[in-house]
Amino acid sequence: APQLVWFRQDLRTADHPALIAAAEQGPVVGLYVLDDETPGRWKIGGAQRWWLHHSLDALAQELDKLGSTLILRRGRSSKVVRDVAKELGAGGVHAIRQYEPWWREAECEHGDFVILHDGDVLHEPSAICSGSKKPFKIFGPFYRALETHFPPPEPLPAPKLTKPSKLPKSDKLADLDLLPTKPDWSTGFTDWTPGTQGAAKQLRHFVDHASDYAAHRDLPAEDATSRLSPHLHHGELSPRQVWHALGRKGGEKFHRELAWRDFSRSMTLADPLIGKESQRPLGLTTRHGKAADSDFTAWTRGRTGYPLVDAGMRQLWESGWMHNRARLVTASFLCKHLLIDWWRGADWFWDCLVDADYANNSQNWQWVAGTGFDSQPFYRIMAPLTQSEKFDAADYIRRWVPELAHLSDADIHDPWGRGAAPPDYPEPLIGHKEARERALEAFRKRAS
Ligand code: FAD
Repeated sequence: APQLVWFRQDLRTADHPALIAAAEQGPVVGLYVLDDETPGRWKIGGAQRWWLHHSLDALAQELDKLGSTLILRRGRSSKVVRDVAKELGAGGVHAIRQYEPWWREAECEHGDFVILHDGDVLHEPSAICSGSKKPFKIFGPFYRALETHFPPPEPLPAPKLTKPSKLPKSDKLADLDLLPTKPDWSTGFTDWTPGTQGAAKQLRHFVDHASDYAAHRDLPAEDATSRLSPHLHHGELSPRQVWHALGRKGGEKFHRELAWRDFSRSMTLADPLIGKESQRPLGLTTRHGKAADSDFTAWTRGRTGYPLVDAGMRQLWESGWMHNRARLVTASFLCKHLLIDWWRGADWFWDCLVDADYANNSQNWQWVAGTGFDSQPFYRIMAPLTQSEKFDAADYIRRWVPELAHLSDADIHDPWGRGAAPPDYPEPLIGHKEARERALEAFRKRAS
């Protein structure tokens, strides 16, 4: 009987255990359901829709070439998957297991109807447990346990497929209305090529210079990190494919970063509400009201008066991505300098990142805010001006904050402090010392 493969964040055909299992049992049809209902407030964000459009286009072509086809639908997936399976007379429905709470609920609702396969992680996180069979809440021990499963299994090639003669109806890709209409995003993001071919090209590029990874990964001006996050989020590459393509080239440092992705998934299993509730509430009074809203807007627009923060926020808006060092600094600035709730920042990232990922975004925001199980303490406050110098951000700032491009290396990190700020560059929303004292005072006075 024909088999249905329900694609979600696994938009590839190689190293896809669900597709392989389906192909072993009969002709195959792929299905993608654009479901804006099941995820609730975490429906796919603006920037990511642009990515998804192109990635689905690429997946459809790939399935065609292999001898199958991709059906597109929209609606609540728990219903649509059943409807399409019925129309097809499917003998089985296969999918790759996902870890977002809404997908887990949908998987539970489907019960045995959907056969789940592992394929989104280096190793199934629920199998990485402490001696007392509890999930690890700290990264170090998690990594040591995960490492015992290295190397992960070799990636599998894409299977040959056939398709049934009678196919369920499909929407057209354009009917999904995924391309953004916001003026700034309407042409998409030129830095990226969504789809498995773009992913493979980016992976090859990274493999060639991965030996610099450990030494340069923290420098936002350099192209030293893999930039694979949107490809990994959409599953255009599996983490196992990345692991094996790299071998030892990125060193342990790179394995550890990939492992953070698995760890975030493990945390999401342990705490599905990780995206909206602080795991360790700090009991701080955060800022609300007009002044806080205006600071928040300045932060989103990259107009805080702190060059590294502004460069990061403008990179995010213009390219759909931000370097990890800048993510740390901008997020810390929002939570500690501006004393604004972390989830407002996480929501903004959700809408603007092409790699927006429930587990990674939530876990990292909580880490920075000091509210996560495994996080830096709140009173450790990053100094954005010092960070900018320490991580050599001058050229990064020049690229993303053009009104500062003419400043010297000495002036560019702190143009106001050096008396070198051009008139069109905003004054700092708050001085670093004052912000630090305000945050520490709020921490000292906290309710609990
Ligand atoms: P590389 O350094 O080349 O790392 C390789 C891969 O490992 C990444 O593609 C990613 O899949 C994984 N990885 C690396 N660092 C982390 C990390 N700290 N946590 C989890 N996985 C990691 N990453 C996302 O994929 N989606 C998000 O929505 C996201 N939001 C973030 C929000 C904040 C506030 C912070 C501080 C970090 C966030 N990250 C997020 C993690 C990290 O910044 C990005 O994964 C990384 O910058 C992507 O660039 P890269 O692919 O070049 O990374």
